[in-house]
Order: sequence, then structure tokens, then C-alpha cells
Amino acid sequence: MAIATVNPTTGESIKDFAPLTDAELAAKVALGDRTFDSYRHSSLEQRSGWLHRVADRLEQDCAALAHLAVLEMGKPIAAAQAEIQKCVMVCRFYADHAAEFLADEIVKTDASQSFVRPQPLGIVLAVMPWNFPYWQVFRFAAPALMAGNVALLKHASNVPQVALRLEQLFREGGFPEGAFQTLLIGGDRVAALVGDDRIRAATLTGSEAAGISLASACGRHLKKTVLELGGSDPLIVCPSAEISQAAAVAVTARMLNNGQSCIAAKRFIAVGETVAAELERAIARDFAALVVGDPMNPATQLGPLATPQILADLETQVAAAIAAGGRLVVGGDRAALLERLPPALRSGHFYPPTLLADLPQDTTIAREEFFGPVALLFQVATLDRAIALANDTPFGLGASVWTQDAAEIDRCVAGIEAGAVFVNGMVKSDPRLPFGGIKRSGYGRELARQGLLEFVNLKTVWIA
Ligand code: NAP
Repeated sequence: MAIATVNPTTGESIKDFAPLTDAELAAKVALGDRTFDSYRHSSLEQRSGWLHRVADRLEQDCAALAHLAVLEMGKPIAAAQAEIQKCVMVCRFYADHAAEFLADEIVKTDASQSFVRPQPLGIVLAVMPWNFPYWQVFRFAAPALMAGNVALLKHASNVPQVALRLEQLFREGGFPEGAFQTLLIGGDRVAALVGDDRIRAATLTGSEAAGISLASACGRHLKKTVLELGGSDPLIVCPSAEISQAAAVAVTARMLNNGQSCIAAKRFIAVGETVAAELERAIARDFAALVVGDPMNPATQLGPLATPQILADLETQVAAAIAAGGRLVVGGDRAALLERLPPALRSGHFYPPTLLADLPQDTTIAREEFFGPVALLFQVATLDRAIALANDTPFGLGASVWTQDAAEIDRCVAGIEAGAVFVNGMVKSDPRLPFGGIKRSGYGRELARQGLLEFVNLKTVWIA
């Protein structure tokens, strides 16, 4: 994939970037390694001050940073601004709490003193996706840098300007040169890169294929990995729920980031016929009313998909779902949508909000991740069936459950196979709570104390 900015709203090529040569790449790894030697001895107060200053820069530059994300990947401008604010939050969270997370843990044993001391590993390579081009990077980088590691970022090839701006932001905050570096390279160069002894660990957020490729390469070199991969999150609605509220949140959750979020509710599961009918009516109405258009316009609720490939994949999946027996409730007609859009946007990667119902639950397509503004609505007879269907997917990232019944909440929390269960709310990431998946959604955790401890050596110290 070429490293380039292509505006997904118009299809226009904006700028191409030359990938790093092998010599340039080697120089960056060497700089990261040299920087680690001194950076690891910086104090937590220093790191915290730098990270707070990065947060200040994010706040000051929010409008321009958001504009750049919209230009490169097409999310609505308000969502891009909210993403920057969330990055501010994660920086301040780790700047304020890392000392507590990194404190020695005293353990009473037969020694006069024994404790566990977290220490940095060295260079951590982060392979990141374009969908939250700032947030995904900050939620890795803020804890990794506070722990004393240095970072190399291999960002998605369609967001090179954001990638380069990220490196500048860390420098502007005061981090030493080499503490955070962006590598403009394609995914095909990652496997060889992780063979370098100076790279101690790697994290990847993205597709299963990319995760398997990175984890295999790291496995060959015995390196720690964290993987945040795809999801097909269920949203279960029970009869006792506030159904109109559940429907409204389902729409927001599904359409977030133009439908391209790993933790979007992608499968709506209604318990009983009445709930299904009410959900279908409310969601279809709200999907049809969404304002689709130029994401730079603050009134727009749904912008284009980020790349032509994602659009093509989604169209193929919708056709497959209909062929497998799915009923198109609303959307699905891209040509009709394009006709309604201004001519300047007709080469953009737009897809209409689409709801499919009655898809046979045992089909392969019902278990896939739809990465765009398409939701699947299922009806089941009981909560047990709902939980079984929720789990009937290769993924296990998050789940949203809607019920007023305490016993039903317990059954969902106990029975759903996922990294997170949110009750009467939308699944979201929060710096204070660990985030990650199970099954083919990956392993390891980001955020909170647990995320910071993924990339440290938990050194056991025993003193007689
Ligand atoms: P992708 O193609 O896997 O790209 C993600 C990153 O991996 C990019 O930097 C990409 O580089 C790189 N990459 C691709 N193939 C690689 C390989 N063989 N070896 C090493 N790196 C490789 O992901 P996507 O399809 O754009 O992103 C969407 C997916 O990410 C969805 O499945 C979504 O659910 C998931 N996601 C998960 C989370 C989470 O937290 N669990 C968050 C966001 C997104 P290039 O751009 O150069 O190919």
C-alpha cells in the first residue's frame, strides 16, 4: 500500500510520501536505542511534565489536528475534535498516575525485604490503524513513555501526515529526540524489523491478518506482543430495558467513526418479538435520518469510509448477507445515496447507513465483522439464546447489554465471552479501565494500570 494522503471525501490524491530507505530506518532504530540509554534514567517528574506539555499542545492545536485526521481518513470533524480531547485525557491520566502504577510492590516473604519493581523494556514498536489515528497511538504511547520505554510508530499508510505530526507533538512537549519516532514504512517491512534485537516488544491494533503476521514474527524472536484486533460486538436488548434509549445508543454506537470502530455494536440482538419490532422501527427511522456528507461540515453525522478497499469489502459483505437470507430494512443502495450528494463528493467512499434483519444466525457472514455503517438485527426467544448468539463469533472484544433486571445483568456478565461488558450503556474505552479482547479480538490490555504494566519488566527483588 502506497504511503499517501488520499482524501476519502473526494477520492483526490493529496500527497505521496517516500518510504524510509533501509539506511534511514536503521538510523532511527539506532537513535531510539541510544535515547533509551539516557531516557530510562529520566525522572517520573520529568516525564510527567513532558506528557502534560504534549496534552497542552493537543489542546492548543486541536482544530488543526482534527482537520488533518478528517482530511486523511474522513471522520466527522466533531468526532475528530472529541478524539483529540480524549488524547489530552489519556496524557494527563498517565502523567498524574504513572508514579502510583510504577511504585515498588512490597511483598512479605522470608526475606528482610522483597518487592516487585517495574522497569522499562527498551524500544517498543507500535503498529497502528488509521481509524482513531491519534487516540490509538496515544493510548499506547502515554503509558509506554511514562514507564521509561521509547517508541517507534509504524502508522497506517493512509495517515502519513498524522503520523509525522505525532512525532512533532512529542518533541514539542519536550520529550528527548528519539523517545518517540515515526517510521514511514509499509506493513511488509515490519516482520524483518522486529528481528532487530534492540526492539524488545511490539503492539498492533488492526486486522486479524496483520496481528497474525506481527505475532508470528515476534514469536520467532521471542518478543512480547499485545494485539488489539477486530470485533463484532453484540448489543443485547431485553424486554425490561428502556428500548427507545437502547435503540438511540445502538445507532450512535454503530455509526461512530463512520461505522469504523472495533468496539462498535455491530450485531443488535433483541430478546422477543416485541423488542425486535420496536428496535427495528426506531433504528431504521434514525439510520434513514442521519446526515451523510462532507465530514468537514459540522452538521455531518456520517462521512465516507476511509479507503476504497473498505468500501468494496463492505459492499461484498452486504451482498453476501442478502444472498444468505438477510432482509434489507433500510440503506444498501449506494447509487441512490451518491445521487443525493453534491457532485464534488460523488467520487468519495460513501456508503449509506444500512440495517439488515433476519440473517440466518448460523451463516458465516453473520459471524463476520462489518467495518462500516451496517448493522445486523437478530431476534431470539430468550436471554440464554441471546448470550449464545453473542458468543457465536470468533471475536470477543466488548458487549452492551440492556436490561433492568439484576439477575439478567449477572447472567450476561458471567456468560458473555468478551473483554468488556457494559450494562445500559455504550461500550467505550476509558483511560481508567483496562481495554482489550479475547478470542480472535486479540490479547493483552491497554489503558489503566494493566495497560502500563504490559511493557515493563516486573523485576522481583529479594534481599536476605
Ligand atoms: P490493518 O490493515 O491490519 O492495518 C492496521 C495496521 O497494520 C496498519 O499500520 C497496517 O499498515 C499494518 N499492517 C497491515 N498488514 C501488516 C502486516 N502483514 N504486518 C505488519 N503490519 C501490517 O487494519 P485495518 O483493516 O486498516 O483496520 C481495521 C481493523 O482494525 C478492524 O478489524 C478493526 O476492528 C481493528 N481495530 C481494532 C481496535 C482494537 O482496539 N481492538 C481498534 C481499532 C481498529 P499499512 O497501512 O501499511 O498496511
